[in-house]
Amino acid sequence: MKLAELGEFGLIDRIKANVAASPSVLLGIGDDAAALSPTPGQVTLITSDMLLEGVHFDLSFCDPRTLGRKSLSVNLSDVAAMGARPRHFLLGVALPKDIPLEFMDGFMAGMLEQAQRYGATLVGGDTCASKGGLAISVTALGEQRPDLVLKRSGAKPGDLVCVTGTVGDAAAGLKQLFAGVREGFLVARQLDPTPRVEAGVALAEAGVVTAMIDVSDGVLQDLGHICEMSGVGARLELARLPLSEHYLAYCGHTDHAPPALWERGGGEGAATGKLYPGNDPFALALSGGEDYELLFCIPAGKESEVAAICASVNLPVSVIGKITTGAGIELTAPDGSSYTPPRRGFDHFGAD
Ligand code: ADP
Ligand code: MG
Repeated sequence: MKLAELGEFGLIDRIKANVAASPSVLLGIGDDAAALSPTPGQVTLITSDMLLEGVHFDLSFCDPRTLGRKSLSVNLSDVAAMGARPRHFLLGVALPKDIPLEFMDGFMAGMLEQAQRYGATLVGGDTCASKGGLAISVTALGEQRPDLVLKRSGAKPGDLVCVTGTVGDAAAGLKQLFAGVREGFLVARQLDPTPRVEAGVALAEAGVVTAMIDVSDGVLQDLGHICEMSGVGARLELARLPLSEHYLAYCGHTDHAPPALWERGGGEGAATGKLYPGNDPFALALSGGEDYELLFCIPAGKESEVAAICASVNLPVSVIGKITTGAGIELTAPDGSSYTPPRRGFDHFGAD
């Protein structure tokens, strides 16, 4: 069957048929608006992200199921970065008329499997035809106790700067995709990111984090947002940047391996590494977006607690620097010299 035969309302019915009921959804897909019942004592966090064909994704790079997962993941990542639990979401789609029905089926299967994994229910949306490419807009709603919500603005001088997982992978994956590579760890990090929902919620509920953001536009750009909104500066030690072995191999290096904090048992751990000849592995790791890791600040002395929290959700975490009283971000290369990045991070309206 073609999308044209199914029609707008047939497609909405098809989507609705695959959405599981949830006790918090009094009215879901099908009426003029959804009716949700809030969890007592919690506030709602709402966030929206758009994904446009040709800007955010290329249909020749990814299958529909993976695109469906990613479209939700990037929104869940924003909910997680506030320390909130995802609960509900809305899906707006503008579909080229010739898009195969199997594409939509795959896309919805991916989106709904990710929704189920993280406890979010699809409650509505909007569907229209596109005269250009495919456009996807997801609005996600999460909940948390108001006193536990994590903002970008609470970092204090002396705080430690932490990041989960590894950085630079998704940007390297995108470069590989442009070079014709279609699989592997880095490509998967680009096409199918994992929102750090469990970690975000656990960190918020432990009450140890002073400021948090997710890494969507690159470590420098996103730490810059924390610094601006907190009225502080930061100093990062590049030797401590968590870089995956796949990323290092892509950059042509194998000798930068700062152990993750939780593998060091929360201790200081000697920062090892050299300033590399040839390809600079730090440039992309600092400016490359879409890793969807959590970047956050904690008071000094809370390292072991944070290491234990992240270990409990099976996620490495690294201390990569300190918050300072200054403004702006200083970078220290592994040899102790000052480092200037070639590029800061992603800006839709900035120069490439
Ligand atoms: P209205 O014209 O009143 O805005 P629509 O006909 O656009 O209503 O939508 C009918 C119902 O289907 C609404 O409940 C809406 O939230 C839901 N809906 C529309 N498009 C989608 C979609 N892509 N995914 C999920 N629900 C959708
Ligand atoms: Mg509508």
